[in-house]
Amino acid sequence: MADDRFAEARRRLIAEIEAEAADTEAWTGRGRFAPAVMNALARVPRHAFVAATDQNAAYVNRPLPIGHGQTISQPYIVAVMTDLLDIAPGDRVLEIGTGCGYQAAVLAELADRVFSVEVVPSLAAAARDRLAALGYRNVAIRVGDGYDGWPEEAPFDGILVTSAPPRLPPRLVEQLKPGGRMVVPVGLPGETQMLFRCVKTPDGEIAQEAKLPVAFVPMVPAGSASD
Ligand code: SAH
Repeated sequence: MADDRFAEARRRLIAEIEAEAADTEAWTGRGRFAPAVMNALARVPRHAFVAATDQNAAYVNRPLPIGHGQTISQPYIVAVMTDLLDIAPGDRVLEIGTGCGYQAAVLAELADRVFSVEVVPSLAAAARDRLAALGYRNVAIRVGDGYDGWPEEAPFDGILVTSAPPRLPPRLVEQLKPGGRMVVPVGLPGETQMLFRCVKTPDGEIAQEAKLPVAFVPMVPAGSASD
């Protein structure tokens, strides 16, 4: 992927994310993201995840529409959420909200296995095809309600939620390993959401830290999705 026609735009985006990481250190506690996270962002071709009409905006640091009223997250947000997950090479990671599959690809660069749940069947199917075409072999996607997680593949070292539930989903908490991290935007629809980094302690308690105000689409309740 290194020398495609977007290589320069991707390098500029990486520099912008580094600058924004420094600017937001007071919120996130992370003035520099891990080199492995930045390398993952430098490797994933974001233009392959956005519409043909948005190719020139693929490396602008903002969210873009992906259909069904959904968006691919702003690159800085993908970076900060991935950094807060502290993925180690052998980790198993669960993502809720596959969308176009971009965040899943970034996670796949860092983790051993990535499991991603998407409630809109056509988004899940398109993401599966796209990730296969790009050569990602360690991502599994399934259609389902993210509130249920993926119990057959649990427990997970990390769980990343890319739409906003009104409170921490208990079944996701259950599916986290002791020592595991969950990064999740929490808030009621229409209200300001807060990005939380949660860690499961060895005795199964959840320690949570508010990190950053964010604006995600609401996580839809079970049964209310349409295709
Ligand atoms: N991570 C995505 C961005 C996701 S946008 C990317 O990189 O492109 C949020 C996604 O969450 C949307 O695709 C939406 O359909 C999905 N979603 C919303 N509520 C959900 C739920 N209850 N279960 C699973 N997915 C959900």
